[in-house]
Amino acid sequence: MSGKQVIMNNVVQSLEILIQTKKVNDNMITDASEKQAFGEAFNDAIEALDKQMPKKIQSDSCCKNVCPSCGGAVHKVLVTEVYCQYCGQLIDWNR
Ligand SMILES: [Zn+2]
Repeated sequence: MSGKQVIMNNVVQSLEILIQTKKVNDNMITDASEKQAFGEAFNDAIEALDKQMPKKIQSDSCCKNVCPSCGGAVHKVLVTEVYCQYCGQLIDWNR
C-alpha cells in the first residue's frame, strides 16, 4: 500500500468517526445553543476533511477546467495534484 493510500484510508476513517461522533453528541446534548455550536464545529471539520478526498476535475460550458466543489476556474500548474484556490478542494486531474 502506498503512502498516499494510507493517508486516504485515514481520511475516510476519520470522516466516519466524526460523522458518528456528531450523531452521538446530537443525542446527548440537550442545551440548544451548545448543540448548535458542537454541530457547527463538527460540520466545519467534516467539510475540511472531505476536501482532502480528491474529486475529479469538471469542465464548464466553455470547456474551461472548473473545481468540482465550488465551480471556480482552476489551472493545472506543474504538479499533478493541486488544491482549488477558492475552496481548498483536492483536485483529481484524471478524467
Ligand atoms: Zn473549489
